[in-house]
Amino acid sequence: MSVKENIVATLSIAGYEPVTNKKTLLEGVDRMWTGLEPLWQETLSLAWDAFCSGTVPVGCVICDKEDQIVARGQNAIADLSSSSPLAGTDLAHAEMIAMSQLQKADHPEIREYILYTSLEPCPMCIGAAVMMNIRQIRYAARDALAGSLVLCTATPYLSSKRMTAELAEPVLEMFQLALVTAYELRRRHSRQAELLGLLQVDCPEGVAIGASLFEEGYLAKAVTESLTVEQVFDEVMARLD
Ligand SMILES: [Zn+2]
Repeated sequence: MSVKENIVATLSIAGYEPVTNKKTLLEGVDRMWTGLEPLWQETLSLAWDAFCSGTVPVGCVICDKEDQIVARGQNAIADLSSSSPLAGTDLAHAEMIAMSQLQKADHPEIREYILYTSLEPCPMCIGAAVMMNIRQIRYAARDALAGSLVLCTATPYLSSKRMTAELAEPVLEMFQLALVTAYELRRRHSRQAELLGLLQVDCPEGVAIGASLFEEGYLAKAVTESLTVEQVFDEVMARLD
């Protein structure tokens, strides 16, 4: 059974039928890399760098109220070449690496900052953002496994922080989940089918495209041939046609 058939089989076991067609949702939407906001381009570029470094493909940028980037991060759990002191630990999430660069004294207006991440933050990163006084989060893709934005209102204390979170347009989620799918297929996790089944509920197209790109060896080749994130993004979008 091919990877794609295996995923489809998992999907039917779960009894899930996709009810929306993202192709329809995307009609008239600019699907080219050049149509993305620069802050999203930088966030996805960091996610692609993380993928190329063999670790979880997640990128993060934090900007001030003038949209100037004040910190960048990319996952480094399995990337020992990263210069972050967190590299090689399970704390090395893209958001943690970005936030760890913000010395309190240098960023008195941190409450005005916006954290962009390519994947919905986990419990650790939500907690860290709350305690860092970052109040606005924008994310490219939902994470049905570890995504924990629901925590923003889990206690009176957390609710009092008035965190806001905004999901980006669907093309970003497709690209991000295509990368996550290929990453999961590459690392052959024992719970792979379960993980991909969860991602598929939110974005079946992204998972299917990621599985195809992995099976065809496109992404492995993209890494060895140093393709740019723009080339890879446009390839993912071309697969929607
Ligand atoms: Zn995290």
